[in-house]
Order: sequence, then C-alpha cells, then structure tokens
Amino acid sequence: MNSAHFDLLLVDAHVATMRAGAGAYGVIRDGAIGIVGDAIAWVGRRGDLPRDVTVTKTLACDGGWITPGLVDCHTHLVYAGNRAGEYERRLEGAAYADIAREGGGIAATVRATREAGEAALAAQSRPRMAALATEGVTTVEVKSGYGLDTANELKQLRVARALGAELGVTVRTTLLAAHAVPPEFAGRADAWIDAVCADIVPAASVAGLADAVDAFCDTIGFTRDQTRRVFDAARAHGLPVKLHAEQLSDQDGAALAAEYGALSADHLEWLSPRGIDAMAASGTVAVLLPGAYYALRETRRPPVEALRERGVPMAVATDCNPGTSPTTSPLLMLNMACTLFRLTPQEALAGMTHVAARALGLADRGRLRAGMRADVAVYAIDEPAELAWRFGGNPCLGTLRAGVPHFRSAR
Ligand SMILES: [Zn+2]
Repeated sequence: MNSAHFDLLLVDAHVATMRAGAGAYGVIRDGAIGIVGDAIAWVGRRGDLPRDVTVTKTLACDGGWITPGLVDCHTHLVYAGNRAGEYERRLEGAAYADIAREGGGIAATVRATREAGEAALAAQSRPRMAALATEGVTTVEVKSGYGLDTANELKQLRVARALGAELGVTVRTTLLAAHAVPPEFAGRADAWIDAVCADIVPAASVAGLADAVDAFCDTIGFTRDQTRRVFDAARAHGLPVKLHAEQLSDQDGAALAAEYGALSADHLEWLSPRGIDAMAASGTVAVLLPGAYYALRETRRPPVEALRERGVPMAVATDCNPGTSPTTSPLLMLNMACTLFRLTPQEALAGMTHVAARALGLADRGRLRAGMRADVAVYAIDEPAELAWRFGGNPCLGTLRAGVPHFRSAR
C-alpha cells in the first residue's frame, strides 16, 4: 500500500473487530483503525501500518478497547409523559387492570404523545437518544405506536428521524400502528386493522417515513390473522416486517413472521420448537429484550440454547419504552442478556453489533473492517467481557459516527 492517507487514525487501543472467523471477538491487540471520510479504510496491528501513511488527525484511545458502534435494534424511545406514578401505585398494591381502567398504561402514553407538538415530543425524547449514544450506540431503531392515528403515527416517525439527524445517530424507523387498539376503536380491533392497512401503512410509505412495519401479536395485542393482514399491507408497499412475538403467550407469531421473511421476531419467551425451525429456515433474527423480562418479573426465558443450536442469530436491545422497559442503558442489557438469559458476553456483544445490524437490514456496520461505515465505540475497559460483566457504570469514552468523533472529553 503506497502513500496511504487517513483523515483520522485511532491508536493506543485494542480492537474487538467482531469479524467472522477471526477468533474470540476478532481481537487485534495494540491495533489501529484508519478512517477516510465516513468509512473504515484500514484495520490492523499498529505495527503493520503502512510506513508512508499520512494522517490528518490522530486520536489516542488511552489504552482502551474499540468495538463496532452499538446498534440498538428495538426501541420505542419517542413518546411523551412518563409512567413512574403507575409504577409507584402498583408497588403500593394497585392492580394493573385498575390502572388501565382509569386511563393509565399505554392509553396514558398515547394521550400524552398525541397532545405533544413535534418540538415538545422531540424535547422529551432527545435525552433518551442522547443517553443511548453516550454508552456507545451509533444506530438506533425507533418505533411508532403511541400515536395510533395517521397524523400522530407519522409525527412520531418524523421526530425520530429529526433527532437522528440532529444528534448524528443513524435512525431506522418502524411503523408500529398495530401496537394497541386506540380508544376511538375500542372493541373493534378488526376495524382498526382495516384502518392501519388502508390508511396508515400507505401514508407512512408515501411519506418515506418507515423503514419497516411491526405489529404486536399476542393475547393483549392482535391475532395472527390480524397480523397477517398488516404484513400483507407492508408487502404491498415493499416494506420489510418485524414482529413482537411470543412475549406473553405462544401465538405461533414467529413462524408467521418467518413466512414473510421478517427481519426479526422479538421477545420470544414463549417461542416453540416450530417457531425456532421457521426462524432458522428464513434467517429471521431473534431479538432478545431482557429489560422487559426483568421489569415484568417474567420467569420463562427465551429458548436461548435451542436458538443457539439451530443457528438462529440472536440480537439484544433495550426495548426503551415507558411501560415495560424504561431504560436507556444498552450496556445494562448486555449484562442482563448474560445473567438472566445465559448468553455469553461475546454473543451479547455480537447481538448488539452485527446481529442487531442484520435485524435492521443493514450490512455496512457492526463489524470493523475496511469498507464498513466508520461507526465505532471506545471503552475504558481491560477486556471485552467487561462490557457485559459490569452493570450500572458507563465506561464509554466516545464514539465515531460515520467518521465524526463524539467524545466526552476533548482529545
Ligand atoms: Zn417493543
């Protein structure tokens, strides 16, 4: 390689490339990464850098570790209001059904989200996206589902995109109008699904605001037949699908998702052997959400051993939402995925890097090698397993997002 030039050179770090076939974590000790524009141009041992390389700026990483930027592939982070009061009341003995009857639960979030203008919704959601980025997230998926009418669903998606542009984080938006039945359609779930298919999916598609379409298939969500209708509408508009499946019961939703070539099926505590076979055959990613499992004090784990055995790729995400997973800590989710679900720390990190990217249909990130997008995270840790081992701290020093440095302290 003659007369190489890097706009940015990262040194003084070990690198967990997460490259396939490169050993545990794809480790390169005393590594270096050369960046040109928004892409990685070179990854290797520092001692192997091209001799005549010229560099515009060198960034020292204090002997820490560089990983691919984290990808949080399942969030509901754009919403208004909060539900801490309900949490407090439930701990004082109130039943969830009573709270729901009084207009609490998801209905409270829908009301607050509808009432908020775009600026107010962005102001409330911005700290959540920023918090994810502070722990190393460079790509985040954001779902709608608290608007539950055309204008408010699109408002949520627009705010998600705007926040991504403002913060320099890649945002992938997912239309989740089939999240719950809005009050205007109480007792008429089929009529609501008609509206989702006839009005909201087309409107989101025409506006170019949705990268995928999702639904909540469960006893308190929508039936398999209703979910199929949403998927047909998505397919008619050329949009890939994802599914909240088998969280509280087995509706055979993951198999339905697999039948539609879904990018992912998410939650999966009640996933059956049939669902696992279908996902393995279709290459659908299993997105594990330990935050919701923890918050709901579930006891039935997703079938991690069977997923691993069948080669179903497993991702891990925050599920950031005000009801069942009010967290903005992806690193805590790595810990929970290992401690609660028994993933290995390497599987958990893969689940929040290249596997999560796959769950979003993104092939240009999640591993560190030449040609990939220059999305990286830098951590003050001694070994990669530390990311999952610790909980409650944040060792992230900063990130590069499309080659642009965002660090806590000047360097
Ligand atoms: Zn969710």
